[in-house]
Amino acid sequence: MPTKYQSILLIGPPGVGKGTQGKILGSIPGFFHLATGDMFRGLDKESEIGLEFTRYSSQGLLVPDFLTVRLWQQHLEQLIAKDMYSPERDVLLLDGIPRSEPQAEMMDDLINPFMIIHLVCEDIDEMVRRMQRRATEQGRPDDADESVIRKRFDVYREQTAPVLACYNDEIIANIDALGTQAEVLLRILSKIVPALSK
Ligand code: AMP
Repeated sequence: MPTKYQSILLIGPPGVGKGTQGKILGSIPGFFHLATGDMFRGLDKESEIGLEFTRYSSQGLLVPDFLTVRLWQQHLEQLIAKDMYSPERDVLLLDGIPRSEPQAEMMDDLINPFMIIHLVCEDIDEMVRRMQRRATEQGRPDDADESVIRKRFDVYREQTAPVLACYNDEIIANIDALGTQAEVLLRILSKIVPALSK
């Protein structure tokens, strides 16, 4: 097993399309999409950790760093054991982690991020609309309430955006997230494919 997982990080504000693009990219052989939001939502809601997740996410807050990274690591080990993800075969597409500077530091020994896809959208109203649509489709409590949505943007600005500064500028690709899914996908692939053949 390699010492560090070869990874591409998907970073961007809530509603920008990380999950949508992550799922499409994850369907390409050789890529494995891992979204921490999905990992948390897959927990038993009545378990101690499931209750902890609801407590934070329903307020638009991040789950504490140590708990998140530990759970992520355990989750990844289970995926490897079931051969759903193979570090030798697949590039890990990390969606939603690291989401704070302490998480980036804690994951330093675990991942080798060779590319960061930074999805950029200045149109906050469009992202809020996307999240409200998602709330109806998926029944997500953290997307239903406008004040929680606003809080998530504050948390992104204060805790997640600074994560970009933890990495070398040369590996950061700023991608315009406005457009059709195919257009955004094309922009992302035009960065990822050449980086993979280096
Ligand atoms: P998402 O589906 O990525 O929007 O995540 C939904 C919620 O899960 C977030 O609002 C957080 O409460 C929690 N969450 C997801 N990823 C992380 C993370 N890396 N660190 C802390 N909390 C997280």
